[in-house]
Amino acid sequence: GNDLLKCEAIKAQIEARDREITNAYAKDTQVINIHNARRYIGDRLIRTAAPHRILDPAHGPLIAVKLNILTRKTLGGFETDLDCRIFGQDGKIMPGLYAAGEAAGFGGGGMHGYRSLEGTFLGGCLFSGRNAGRAAAKAVG
Ligand SMILES: Cc1cc2nc3c(=O)[nH]c(=O)nc-3n(C[C@H](O)[C@H](O)[C@H](O)COP(=O)(O)OP(=O)(O)OC[C@H]3O[C@@H](n4cnc5c(N)ncnc54)[C@H](O)[C@@H]3O)c2cc1C
Repeated sequence: GNDLLKCEAIKAQIEARDREITNAYAKDTQVINIHNARRYIGDRLIRTAAPHRILDPAHGPLIAVKLNILTRKTLGGFETDLDCRIFGQDGKIMPGLYAAGEAAGFGGGGMHGYRSLEGTFLGGCLFSGRNAGRAAAKAVG
């Protein structure tokens, strides 16, 4: 319903990509990466679909998918200790204030260290919630 997409530009891009996919000396980094991944038998069998021309009628019809941007994780949050108590800007604990989940810092309070891997956030989020709850309960006796 609007003219944000320029069909000619998209068509030219797809045709350029299709030229690369059948080119043994492709310069397109994504195409090269697909070919490289498929050199490993495990990736070829179960992880990387066999590449083909997008405009190959045998693989049609084309469908359009509308994508929306979302925040997957913040990688931010407050600075906390292991009881999930929050440090203020002066570096001192702010009494009575706790954070859990992503709000407790990188990947749920940094429970997995500085190099949290994709897919390891939920555990840290839950664990920091437990720590915060226990520390708060202990604080009020
Ligand atoms: C698509 C996707 C896939 C993911 N896959 C994985 C995965 O496979 N493994 C993994 O470990 N992690 C994964 N994560 C990350 C993980 O899901 C999040 O890190 C985790 O859910 C964060 O939990 P949270 O409780 O800290 O925050 P959230 O789940 O974001 O909860 C925050 C809550 O606060 C509410 N809120 C916000 N503002 C206010 C307000 N002013 N007043 C009241 N309420 C408010 C929100 O509505 C929300 O319910 C994924 C995340 C996404 C988005």
